[in-house]
Amino acid sequence: MPSFIGYGICEEPRPDEVNTAKDCGRRGFWQYNFLREIMPHGNKANFTFNESKTKDLVELFASEEATGKIFIEPHMVKRINLTSNKIRFHGCRAVRHDDHIHVQLK
Ligand SMILES: [Zn+2]
Repeated sequence: MPSFIGYGICEEPRPDEVNTAKDCGRRGFWQYNFLREIMPHGNKANFTFNESKTKDLVELFASEEATGKIFIEPHMVKRINLTSNKIRFHGCRAVRHDDHIHVQLK
């Protein structure tokens, strides 16, 4: 696990991708990026985002009848070409979802 609580070490948006954390922050939703801001990042270099395995995992969750919604950061949805209608934007009142995937059951 990249951080001691499992949150805050994120797969950051690339310069050409939508930066939802920045957009939410500009709109006053300070909590959206809070854990990213306070978490030490010394361990980040030891972890690599695996696009194909992440895509496979999300598509597996999406294929399950019991899965209601999946929250994952918008730049990642586009980057790994996720198309399920169960994938939703969680809104700026939540926290960013590029350090974890959120699966909500029906
Ligand atoms: Zn979540």
